[in-house]
This record gives sequence, structure tokens and C-alpha cells, in this order.
Amino acid sequence: MRRQRSYSTRAIVLKSREQGEADKVITVFTPQLGKRVLVARGVRKSASRKAGHLEPFTHVALYLAKARGWDIITQAETVTSFRPLRQDLDRMAYAFYFCELLDAFTQEEDSHPDLFSLLFSALEYLQTTDDLALTARWFELSLLRLSGYLPQFYQCVECGEALQPVSNYFSLEHGGVLCPAHGEGRKGAEPLAVGTLKVLRYLQIQSYSQISNLRLSPARMRQVQGVLAEHIRYVLERRLKSPYFIARLVPTRSKGNG
Ligand SMILES: [Zn+2]
Repeated sequence: MRRQRSYSTRAIVLKSREQGEADKVITVFTPQLGKRVLVARGVRKSASRKAGHLEPFTHVALYLAKARGWDIITQAETVTSFRPLRQDLDRMAYAFYFCELLDAFTQEEDSHPDLFSLLFSALEYLQTTDDLALTARWFELSLLRLSGYLPQFYQCVECGEALQPVSNYFSLEHGGVLCPAHGEGRKGAEPLAVGTLKVLRYLQIQSYSQISNLRLSPARMRQVQGVLAEHIRYVLERRLKSPYFIARLVPTRSKGNG
């Protein structure tokens, strides 16, 4: 047998899928190595001690062996299990969403320590926040900023003039906001209320501790969510699975909030 080189890293598990009879293919995000696809051999056998450490959104210490295809997980130990997220269906749905979104916005082996920190912090905040939707909007905007896909919220994307505190227009195709002169009647440009634009700007520049005090009306939150969801779908050119799951799950639990 050839000698295998081994190494270790911390990682957050983004997703896993079954492979063959007993293996799993695990996608993780690491602080230094970016996103990696790895294989865990034999984890679906009942005697495997690795299995419980490789669930999605677990923060794990991995010991790996280099291989010709996917590197092989030889050992896995949980560092942070984020247990409160596993005990609450709503929080868990958002944790899956954060992992799915980060996965969608990253390429393999593209080192991005800030994105690791963002995901780790977001999962921590998600454990205790009383406003899951607000935490998700902050995560989306932070992810868009760090990956270079933040929409332009300050100047008209056509004429470059600073946007005035009036009703402007959001254009997916232009990746940002159009002033009334360039947005009105434009195909694909949707009206954007000044209050919604203010919230989007605020969420994009403030730290989490600042925004966690924000209280938004359900209508305002829906508008902010709508702009970001459409933008993300446009950038990725596809729909993600977990927002659909969240939409089905969460409203049934917050009836009466409008
Ligand atoms: Zn303009």
C-alpha cells in the first residue's frame, strides 16, 4: 500500500449524502482550506464511532488522509454540537438554510476564513435569538458582502447618483437599486419602499449586536426578505431547498403575528 499523507483541520459540516453500502460523502467548510468534499468510510455501519460527529452544522475536528479522489476522514470529534439548534425544529431549519446558502455561494478549496467565522457566529446567534428571520437576513447580507454579491444600495446602478429617500426601484438584472428617473416603468424593476431600503442598508453595515435590537413590522420584514430572496435566486440561478421548508414550517408557529 502507498503511504498516505495525513492532516487535520477544524470544520463545520455543511451536508452529507450516502455513498455505496456503508460510506458517506461529507461536504465541510474549514477555516483555512475552504470548502472540501470528503469521504467517511463505513460510517453507516452501527459500530462506527465517527457517524454522530458528522451531522450537518456540527463543528468538528477532523483527521484526514490524502487520497486520489476525495480525502478520507480517519477520525472525527465534535467540538461544538450546537445542541439547541437540534432541539428546536425552527432553529434547525434555519441552520440547514445557512449551510445550504454557504455551500451554494462557495467553490471547493477556495480559502475564505471570514466565511467560516461568519457561519460559526451565525450558528451561535441562532441558538439564542428570538428573531430567527432577522438573524437570517443579517446572515444573507453578510454572506453576499463577503462573497462579492452585495446589491448596490447607495447609488443608482444606472446614473450613479446617490439615492434619495423616496420610493426607488430594485432591479435583479442590474444587481441593485435604480433611482425613480431610471427605474419607473422599467421592465423587471420593482418598487422599493424607502423604509425597506433603510433596513437593507442598516443590516449590511451594522454588527450583529447592533441589529439584534431591531424590531421590524411583519410587513417590512417580508419586503426585506423578498428583495434578498429574489436577489439570491437570481445570482445562484436556482432556488434553494431550505427556504421552502422554512416557509412551510415557521408561519404555522407564529400565527397571530400577522
Ligand atoms: Zn438613476
